[in-house]
Amino acid sequence: MGNAVNDTSTRADLIVIGLGAMGSATADAAARRGLRVIGLEAFEQGHRRGSSHGATRIIRRSIEEGPQYVPLVLDALARWRQLDEESDQPILHLGGAIRVAPAGSALHAAFLRSAVAHHLDFERLQPGDVHERFPALVVPDGFEALFEQDAGVVFADRAVRALQTRAVRHGASLQFDEPVSQWRADGDGVVVDTPQATYRGDRLVITAGAWTTQLLASLALPLVVQRVVNVTFQPTVPQRFDHEHLPAFLLSDGTSGVYGVPAIGGEGVKVGGSGSPTSPDETQPPASDDEVTALRSVVDRFLPGAASSDRSTLTCLYTTAPDGHFVIDHHPDHPQVVVASPCSGHGFKYTTAIGPVLVDLAVSGSASLPIDSFGISRFITSGAVK
Ligand SMILES: Cc1cc2nc3c(=O)[nH]c(=O)nc-3n(C[C@H](O)[C@H](O)[C@H](O)COP(=O)(O)OP(=O)(O)OC[C@H]3O[C@@H](n4cnc5c(N)ncnc54)[C@H](O)[C@@H]3O)c2cc1C
Repeated sequence: MGNAVNDTSTRADLIVIGLGAMGSATADAAARRGLRVIGLEAFEQGHRRGSSHGATRIIRRSIEEGPQYVPLVLDALARWRQLDEESDQPILHLGGAIRVAPAGSALHAAFLRSAVAHHLDFERLQPGDVHERFPALVVPDGFEALFEQDAGVVFADRAVRALQTRAVRHGASLQFDEPVSQWRADGDGVVVDTPQATYRGDRLVITAGAWTTQLLASLALPLVVQRVVNVTFQPTVPQRFDHEHLPAFLLSDGTSGVYGVPAIGGEGVKVGGSGSPTSPDETQPPASDDEVTALRSVVDRFLPGAASSDRSTLTCLYTTAPDGHFVIDHHPDHPQVVVASPCSGHGFKYTTAIGPVLVDLAVSGSASLPIDSFGISRFITSGAVK
């Protein structure tokens, strides 16, 4: 691979660092707009060290994290549907999503804030209703369920691969096993170095997930990396817990909670919970028995019989901001650089909307979707960064 300045293989209108969900969607959106795109990924295609791997992710519409996310997810849903139609394997399964928590809980209040603000359809189900419709799901007395139909599951590994394939089909050059060692602004453009080559671009989008703070050390972003365990159980009676009998779920006992996906696409019942601090370069040990037991104890209460001994696990990383919200903004010193960590453990569902948003920001300086609350300056005003 040459690195002469006018070597077209190292020149681009837009360079993307990191090809997880967000970087792949950015390369896809940019290539489909006819831009020359180079995507650089540190690890092999489909690697399992970041935040976007695994069979499934939940997509909801009544977003508990805040009404400001609803326009993003509605845009993403339309674009997931399009990708699903174009793909030879299902990318999306909208079998509904249910929240079970004590009546009047914070989880339900947050759901209702978004649903009411955006006039989203949902049903309030009492324990008896749930038992009738989803017999495997137990709703304890004093608990309530909120159900929305137009929600469910995105097949994560397939989705990221489909975005990468479509990006390449539209001319993007995606380089795997090519870690970026450094980048710098160069006039109105950027220069990006890897062990293999030096790249020049007019615009740069940094979607490096858990490694964001490493590539943007000067910004001292207050992002914390967390290790998260997902367990997939093979229930002894699988059809009781499959996607025809159970929607995606968020289960909370008022203090702790789990999220999960029914058995679907040959996979068992997947559950996950909150994370624990780690560093992105640490080799993640497999899930411990304690980590599995912590999830099993919640599952046993709400989905008795789902958490059999037959199980598989994966570890994954969240990149979390102190306020639990995304980071999407221009670099404060370099307007040709866009910084994006749309994670905090809930970013995947927005992937197909965020890709075009990042290209808009990079190329025209602003985005059509509401992202103002995701700016870097909020950390300065909050004193999180000096
Ligand atoms: C277990 C788990 C369950 C989740 N469940 C849900 C869910 O149900 N619904 C939902 O909406 N969201 C969910 N999320 C969150 C969602 O998956 C993430 O927000 C999303 O995947 C973040 O994508 P990303 O592209 O920012 O990060 P990543 O996928 O980590 O991509 C960053 C990429 O940058 C690369 N990189 C880093 N440094 C460099 C460098 N120097 N040079 C080149 N490449 C580099 C990395 O190798 C990596 O591939 C979950 C996350 C986890 C971990």
